[in-house]
Amino acid sequence: MEKKTNQFKAEIAEILDLVVNSLYSKKEIFLRELISNASDAIDKAKYLGLTQKDLVADAPEWKIDISCDSKAKTMMIADNGIGMDADDLEKNLGSIASSGTKAFRQALKEKGSDALPELIGQFGVGFYAAFMVADKVRVLTKKRGTDKAYVWESSMDGTYTVGEAERDGFGTSVMLHFRPECENFLDRWTVSDLVRRYSDFISYPIRYSKIDVPADEKDEDRKRREEDEAKPLNTMVALWKRPKKDVKDSEYADFYKHLSRDWEDPFETIPFSGEGQVEFKALLFLPKKPSMELYMPNQKRGLSLYVRNVFIGDDIDMLLPPWLRFVKGVVDSSDLPLNVSREMLQDDAIVQKIKSAVTSKVLSVLEDIKKKDAKRYDEFHTAFGAVLKEGAYNDWTNKERIEKLIKFPSARSDAGKTLFLEDYVKDMASGQKDIYFIVAETEKDARNAPQIESARKHGCDVLLFCDHIDAFLAESLREFDGHSFVNLGKGDVEFGSEEERKAEKESREKAEGELKGFLENVKKSLGDAVGEVKLSSRLTDSPCCLVAKENAISPMMARLMKASGQSVPEEKRTLELNAGHPLVKKVEGLSGAEFDDAVALLYDSALIAEGSPVADPARFGKLLSALMLK
Ligand code: ADP
Repeated sequence: MEKKTNQFKAEIAEILDLVVNSLYSKKEIFLRELISNASDAIDKAKYLGLTQKDLVADAPEWKIDISCDSKAKTMMIADNGIGMDADDLEKNLGSIASSGTKAFRQALKEKGSDALPELIGQFGVGFYAAFMVADKVRVLTKKRGTDKAYVWESSMDGTYTVGEAERDGFGTSVMLHFRPECENFLDRWTVSDLVRRYSDFISYPIRYSKIDVPADEKDEDRKRREEDEAKPLNTMVALWKRPKKDVKDSEYADFYKHLSRDWEDPFETIPFSGEGQVEFKALLFLPKKPSMELYMPNQKRGLSLYVRNVFIGDDIDMLLPPWLRFVKGVVDSSDLPLNVSREMLQDDAIVQKIKSAVTSKVLSVLEDIKKKDAKRYDEFHTAFGAVLKEGAYNDWTNKERIEKLIKFPSARSDAGKTLFLEDYVKDMASGQKDIYFIVAETEKDARNAPQIESARKHGCDVLLFCDHIDAFLAESLREFDGHSFVNLGKGDVEFGSEEERKAEKESREKAEGELKGFLENVKKSLGDAVGEVKLSSRLTDSPCCLVAKENAISPMMARLMKASGQSVPEEKRTLELNAGHPLVKKVEGLSGAEFDDAVALLYDSALIAEGSPVADPARFGKLLSALMLK
């Protein structure tokens, strides 16, 4: 048989059905699509009007009007843009996936025109989204530069009609006859919400009006309604597209408040553009204070991504790593490849590039504030230090930069003052190699922790890890500037010069030999509560403390894990005693029940000193009262 070239045949009704019912995940998208078309139509009229003045001789106020009739169940979206003639209707609304807007753009490009308008349409399917909510759509349109109006009508049964009609003025009105289950979209608040979400930065005013006003509407109600209806629903100005020097601080602040629903001005405003491989414009804000939802797992909204002024998405982790979730703002890119439903981006690599550029920008702004204004940086760190530390904990790409931005209180500095890691390293005692820290629930607990006594006596400062996240951070910090991190609440620690360490070890081992029987009795008395009892090298003033094994999880971490419902392996800790302490000497001289009670009290006091609850508070109270009576 001879080879023949055939045309694909298509069941138009089926394809339309696919477009309408399978393309979009949400019905509400219809409004975004019809408004985008109206905006494109006005852009085209405005652009052509630059050279063909007679096209815009009616000198219109460019606008998009949405009028709803909840009795007739109709919505009309009207623009005074370019309009369509019979031929355009045929080509654009009569053929699926044919985009007049794309053709318009290409024609201008071929002509070599510059300053092209930023048109939205490109796929030629958005219009049909109307059928997700409407069972009949009627388009009444009159093209600028002609004198005839046409009406296009379809009920999505695979056919449409086109006929001549009358229309006041140029432009297009799309009338939707709503399906009963979609009538909620006629409500003013719903429309207003959708416009704010998807079309807030369309550059023409979008207004809402109600057609089915009750005949007996009171004068004051009418007045209020008309005032409301005169106000555009959208913000219109895409501030991020204007040069920074042309935007007032108050405009940025108002925009931030609109975006974040914060009532305070932003702490820092960051307008910037990305160039090179991916071009985009961004306007970011750092808030002054954390929002209520900062530490809630259900925070879903992050930066808003716009492509040509139309909202595409604001998934929390799309454009920022999770630890930067406090940053608010907008990213806009004209040439991001969208998929047909515009609900997703086609190229994840491009989004990743934007994400890393945005992250790096925020980091460099913070580095700059740190360098130029320590007081201001402290304000920021007080509000958001804990989230930065999440980054130091789990953002492996930026860990090094973030570690230079986090601060900790220290045993030597005044309460409320914090140090950068580099400050700590700069002030290390001579011969000190490691960075010492202690983890506790509060700064006070950390400051008073017995485990840090000996380090202090040897002239070493100790960082106090008392933000909730610090318990996790403690597990992931390895080295800073060549110095290892050492948790004083864990494992064996030694201080001072080689000779000092050696001498200290020898005298401890000697004392341990002498006190062997006593240490064994303490362990016997405490039973399974502790894994081991030994003499301490980290205590000077306190009688005892509890320490974990080198690789064990800290008690604070264990409490956090338990609180979040995770099972925590039972780790027995070591009770370290200060052989030189008078209390320990006293206990050594006791026996029988007196010995057991004193050991129990010693153990409980070690728990209390680190901020842990005692196992049996009633018994502790009783023992304490008895002791006081003595
Ligand atoms: P797209 O907007 O992606 O091109 P649509 O299916 O939404 O696809 O629209 C198809 C075409 O119909 C548009 O490209 C445009 O030429 C024309 N069109 C749609 N709505 C209007 C309107 N309000 N005014 C003028 N032309 C319109």
